[in-house]
Amino acid sequence: MKRLMTRTLIAAAVLTQMTGNANAEATIPTTNAPATQNTPSKTNSISGISLENIDDNVRAQDDFYTYVNGKWLKNTEIPADKSSWGSFNELAEKSLNQLHSIIDSETQKKDLPAGSIKQKIVDFYASYMDEATLEKLGITPLNPEFARIDALQNKKQLATLIAHLSTIDVGAPLELGIGQDSKDSTKVVAGLDQGGLGLPDRDYYLKDDEKLKTTREKYVAYIEKMLTMSGDAAAKKHAGEILALETEIAKIQWTKVENRDPVKTYNPMTLNKLKVLAPHFDWTRYLVDAELQGKTPYLVIGQPSYIKGFDRLLEKTPLDVWKVYFKWHVLSSFASQLSKSYVDERFAFFGTTLRGVPENELRWKRAVKTVEAEIGQGLGQLYVEQYFPADNKARMEKLVSNLIAAYRQSINTLDWMGDNSKKEAQKKLDKLAVKIGYPNKWRNYDQLEIKRDELVGNVMRSSQFEYQRQINKLGKPVDRDEWGMTPQTVNAYYNPSMNEIVFPAAILQPPFFHADADDAVNYGGIGAVIGHEISHGFDDQGSQFDEVGNLRNWWTAEDHKNFAAKTKALVAQYNAYSPVKGYNVNGELTLGENIADNSGLAIAYKAYQLSLGGKTAPVIDGLTGDQRLYFGWAQVWRSKTREPQEIMYLKTDPHSPAKFRGDGALANQPHFYDAFGVKDGDKMYLKPDQRVIMW
Ligand SMILES: [Zn+2]
Repeated sequence: MKRLMTRTLIAAAVLTQMTGNANAEATIPTTNAPATQNTPSKTNSISGISLENIDDNVRAQDDFYTYVNGKWLKNTEIPADKSSWGSFNELAEKSLNQLHSIIDSETQKKDLPAGSIKQKIVDFYASYMDEATLEKLGITPLNPEFARIDALQNKKQLATLIAHLSTIDVGAPLELGIGQDSKDSTKVVAGLDQGGLGLPDRDYYLKDDEKLKTTREKYVAYIEKMLTMSGDAAAKKHAGEILALETEIAKIQWTKVENRDPVKTYNPMTLNKLKVLAPHFDWTRYLVDAELQGKTPYLVIGQPSYIKGFDRLLEKTPLDVWKVYFKWHVLSSFASQLSKSYVDERFAFFGTTLRGVPENELRWKRAVKTVEAEIGQGLGQLYVEQYFPADNKARMEKLVSNLIAAYRQSINTLDWMGDNSKKEAQKKLDKLAVKIGYPNKWRNYDQLEIKRDELVGNVMRSSQFEYQRQINKLGKPVDRDEWGMTPQTVNAYYNPSMNEIVFPAAILQPPFFHADADDAVNYGGIGAVIGHEISHGFDDQGSQFDEVGNLRNWWTAEDHKNFAAKTKALVAQYNAYSPVKGYNVNGELTLGENIADNSGLAIAYKAYQLSLGGKTAPVIDGLTGDQRLYFGWAQVWRSKTREPQEIMYLKTDPHSPAKFRGDGALANQPHFYDAFGVKDGDKMYLKPDQRVIMW
């Protein structure tokens, strides 16, 4: 099931396939936030800067990111089981080890109550580790799904199949999502988006550059091999049909840039309208089988022209080809949970070919990640008890208050927003909800059955459990306590429909947050992260939502014009960055995140100044406070990525590559120029009229 549209700090897939959804947490009052002076100022003399990573052969003024992280970049090798490595991955790996030790110690206990979440975690993990059973079962756990597809008599029944596949989280051309109505955030409705591709983006099917062409050839070879293993005598023919059908689907899909538009992707349609738009799809049957009948006033269609195109495809593609296609998606979806030969083949394509990773992760890591992905909120409860110091939350709350206060002051000085819009922006800040650490109520898994010897069954039942949880939201008040990430996730997000920012426990650690260090490094690290998330409320997408999370235009034409001039310059700046020869950053795809990085850093700087209350910051390790703040920013982005993974991110990730997140945002900060004496002729130098200053 498609997830809510939130704006994250980094791509969720950087770290794991964590897809945990969540519950609840106290919001701290953001109205009348205390005016900043009572910062959590530590009289500590630790800078928190990793001075040992500085590369003196690079000038700070030419490439600050490489100057700050140069030695780390030279001396670090990406681990054999990873596609990238950096601060985020290091913390994610730490989380993974902590979760592993939690599961291990629970496994030792022989008196866990039957049916308790602890017992479910232990049994789920055991089902993944039980290789002997998996070898014995081979592909047989998927036989009921294959039989279901084989039994289809006509194309009308594809509606039933697509509804069913949603419940077990197998990708299909129509992806169902449950979430707040963009135009009435008090209402929960269902929506449908395009889907159904096996490769990461339509470009992988449609672009003819050498690398993507090779990937495509390997994809079809991978399909053929897997089908052959599963006993398909016509595997070669079927693999060709699958690639051809997915290519047709890719052609009618909207691009990722088009999908960033919250107005164009908001198309509520009633059953009658859908019947006209796509007459060959059995909508009545679909609504009943997906359990949506009578529960949603309409379906919000993301891409109407795609639905129309899908209808044509449905009509012209023979039923037998659809059967082959859906069986393939079932097989590919569960291959990691089958016997070794399927796991290895899947990894050879999705790990090695697509992302450049030489070795698959150890089984225990994959086991923990699967438990995390399926019942991560249950695991989160145990994680927080053991690993989240309560002090961190209090200090974080103060940092957030200071960032909000800095935004509040900044709004009044903006050159691109008129007076009325400034009032609306203040209202949006007043209503901003903040969640830190972990939910204040934990998800109940009583209705979920986990068996020690059924890995595929456990994954399917967990998906069905989640599906029911989502369906149950329809027609009920919005649960404002819900979390969209688990506490052990190293990431953060802004949710425009909730107008909320969320910081899971696991990101509140160095290099983002140093409990023992002087403030400057924390403003450059977690401070800029907080600023980043708040700024999503005012980026090119978030700014189209109002203070209660409704898609409503609160801008004047003049504001739009001024804002568009700035975003145009920012698009051009990031378009010029190229991390891989022949591939550039897509400035439009990454616009919202680039705005958030630039604004977040600028506001973090202002909040830091406010926290100093007019006093001069101490010099520590030979660095001024301002210098340490920018060091703090640059060091959180230290990261290395394998080339195929980098290309995938350029095609799919709304965030810019790490180096350009570091340097790109700095080049627009006037105070960075002052702090390091950047002058005309230096490589980081942008003329004052070229610098994009939003906040
Ligand atoms: Zn973001």
